[in-house]
Amino acid sequence: MSSAVESGEISLTLPDGSVRRVSAGTTGADLAQAISPRLAKAALAVMVNDRLTDLTRPIESDARVRIVTERDPEALHLYRHSTAHLLAAAVLELFPGTQCGIGPALDDGFYYDFVVQRPFVPEDLAAIEQRMKEIAARDLPFVHEYRPKEEAKAYFAARGEPLKVQLIEEKSGPIASCYDIKGVFLDFCVGPHVPSVGRLANFKLLSTSNAYWKGDAKNQPMQRVYGTAFFSKNELEQYLHRLEEAKKRDHRRLGKELGLFHFHPWAPGAAFWLAKGTTVYHTIADYMREVLLPNGYVELKTPLVFNKALWETSGHWQHYRQNMFLIDNEEEQMAMKAMNCPGHMLVFASEGRSYRDLPLRFHEQTPLHRNEASGVLSGLTRVRQFAQDDAHCFVMESQIGEEVERLLRLVQRVYNDFGLEYSVKLSTRPAEFLGEIATWDHAEAELKRALDSAGQAYTVDEGDGAFYGPKIDVDVTDAIGRKWQCATVQLDYQMPQRFGLKYTGADNAEHCPVVIHRAIFGSFERFMALLIEHYAGAFPMWLAPVQATVLPIADRHLEAAKAVVAKLEAGGLRVSLDARVEKIGYKIREAQLQQIPYMLVMGDREAAEGQVSVRSRRGGDLGARSVDQFLDDARREVQQRGR
Ligand SMILES: [Zn+2]
Ligand SMILES: [Zn+2]
Repeated sequence: MSSAVESGEISLTLPDGSVRRVSAGTTGADLAQAISPRLAKAALAVMVNDRLTDLTRPIESDARVRIVTERDPEALHLYRHSTAHLLAAAVLELFPGTQCGIGPALDDGFYYDFVVQRPFVPEDLAAIEQRMKEIAARDLPFVHEYRPKEEAKAYFAARGEPLKVQLIEEKSGPIASCYDIKGVFLDFCVGPHVPSVGRLANFKLLSTSNAYWKGDAKNQPMQRVYGTAFFSKNELEQYLHRLEEAKKRDHRRLGKELGLFHFHPWAPGAAFWLAKGTTVYHTIADYMREVLLPNGYVELKTPLVFNKALWETSGHWQHYRQNMFLIDNEEEQMAMKAMNCPGHMLVFASEGRSYRDLPLRFHEQTPLHRNEASGVLSGLTRVRQFAQDDAHCFVMESQIGEEVERLLRLVQRVYNDFGLEYSVKLSTRPAEFLGEIATWDHAEAELKRALDSAGQAYTVDEGDGAFYGPKIDVDVTDAIGRKWQCATVQLDYQMPQRFGLKYTGADNAEHCPVVIHRAIFGSFERFMALLIEHYAGAFPMWLAPVQATVLPIADRHLEAAKAVVAKLEAGGLRVSLDARVEKIGYKIREAQLQQIPYMLVMGDREAAEGQVSVRSRRGGDLGARSVDQFLDDARREVQQRGR
């Protein structure tokens, strides 16, 4: 602005709208100091016209400015990235000759990649972390400097850092932006950073993993060191506690310990559901049928292998073939079913349809196969074979809003039955889309109206819809605060057209229906993983694979125990009998480890009086009661589900 040239003064507009006249070249630090010493102390960086910059950077012209402290959303990322520099500084001090790659912040921490002479072991991480603390205690400033590109390259070449030289060559203009933790560690980086390493206090190095330069396995192997950092010690400790909890709850471990499922290298990405896991699986699958079938859905079972003509018609052959298992059969090329929708289109087209038939809702739980790369397979969350509580609702355009509202009420009901907390997100038209804008606008308005009518709070993710229609996603929050994407409701105008679907309208003319793809659990496999980790293996009564176990104290109580088992099974409970000749304390401990909700101990008195001594896996001894009484209580608890 001309005023700056004339007077050497510039105008800085603060978030509250007030304007400060200051001399050009004022820094964020100067400004914070002028506002208040307390703000100066808390300041980490400054936002200048929506660009985050260092506190030490001079501001040369009129701008909107905001001092960033740890309360601001940008701050944690900056703090973690700054901590990554501190990590590299410590590594170079302790392991001279190590080469540095890049060190970005992550959503839950940071990492830095190194070329190492030998891989770091856990003791190294402890030593590096200690050194980070020592360097932080020196409270050295992050000094920003610009170096001519060639000079910067020569500097890093002399330091034995060819990867940095390559980065500068590729990313830098004629001047390279560098930051020096003063005199200790200079790095090529656009910044910004916290003013000094003394600000970095609450960090922890977590793990190492193999990495490659630029993430490409053809490049130089590197070792990645992961860490995390928080503004307060308390938050850091809570995070570390959550990590520990997550480890304890890992469904892959619990799946083995509780005898739920198994994997074998000959069937990568496909679970063997063992007896107990199959019981839980069927319980939730049958529960879903109980919800859907009285709600206007019909259940289908469609083929698992289709001629490629189906996938060509749906468009999957062109866009999704690399994720499908292909089968050459005689002269036909076939592919295993990766999603149910195209098959449901064929069922819709298999007979004449009238507007009176709509909405038509097809539910299907048969297995699907997707050819995920072996490297990404993980437990039940990334698999090649799975099933969904899938359904396709064929509706007239005028029915979209009402149908989605029904769906949202079903979602609410199901998650309430499981006692799960969730949040809802609406994703709207992306930059690249098929169809008319007016159709999209109508559909998005209908979805919003449905969300409001269902009394469902939601956020909007602009531009995140699929190319063929807007969608609603539901994230479940588990017991330790992690989010799992589960339900989706997806509007689709395209696929019914590709299959030439028709119904006869009230006007006697032919129309194409709209299809709503929707799932409430998502995949059963993933939902099982969520349940196992959410409950840490201690399924509520209605889901527990074994709901009660009868524990005779001595051999002479065995007959009475068997009678109790028979009675409870006849009453609809899932019951086991521990008939082994073992001490009762040992049997109780084992049942607790197996997370069986109730242990029914049978001794002389219980056998004589037709009673059981009830112990719960959590509450310990609940006292003796009649078998009938226990059965009544247990059934009531089952009926409550997770509510
Ligand atoms: Zn940096
Ligand atoms: Zn579908």
